[in-house]
Amino acid sequence: MANRYIHEIVDFICFGSAYPRVHTEKDAAWKTLGLEHRTKNHELYNLYGEEWNFEDIYPKKLQSFFEAIQRKHGAKAEEFQVWFAHDILDKVWDGLSFSKRKYWESFLIWVIYSPRILKDWAGVDVINGRLLRVVEDQKTWKASPEIKFEYERLCRYVEIVKSNDEILQDMLERFGEKEHASDFG
Ligand SMILES: [Zn+2]
Repeated sequence: MANRYIHEIVDFICFGSAYPRVHTEKDAAWKTLGLEHRTKNHELYNLYGEEWNFEDIYPKKLQSFFEAIQRKHGAKAEEFQVWFAHDILDKVWDGLSFSKRKYWESFLIWVIYSPRILKDWAGVDVINGRLLRVVEDQKTWKASPEIKFEYERLCRYVEIVKSNDEILQDMLERFGEKEHASDFG
């Protein structure tokens, strides 16, 4: 499984929210079941090969399922997307070697450390507290001041992970982590 902070970073980039509560719930069984924890709360993960695969990651059946959730839950449907996207990321992570995982971890941290890339590439403006949303096919910046606090919390979390991982420290040093610190200025 991907570490929780990886799930949180990916969601922050995709949705502008890290959804820590969702990922804690998804992987809660880790404490008691260890590697077997994905037998619980990982419905889509366990349907790999039956309902979806990497050639057809979003098959018709799944699309209709999400459309039904959207109709029923409206904006709350995003939480369901997060719930199922977690499983897809876990499955992707299974196929990566140790060094590839470290590469992706450091890349994702590098993105999080670069507010300019978050804004221009991901549409998550952590400096001004805005999210780029598509409303009726129009891209619109929507005020979301709460993302500033969420970003700070995520950065603190990432700092703790990084301080315990020399490989990540080394990769980030080489990827030019420091150059991006100036984005905050
Ligand atoms: Zn998981």
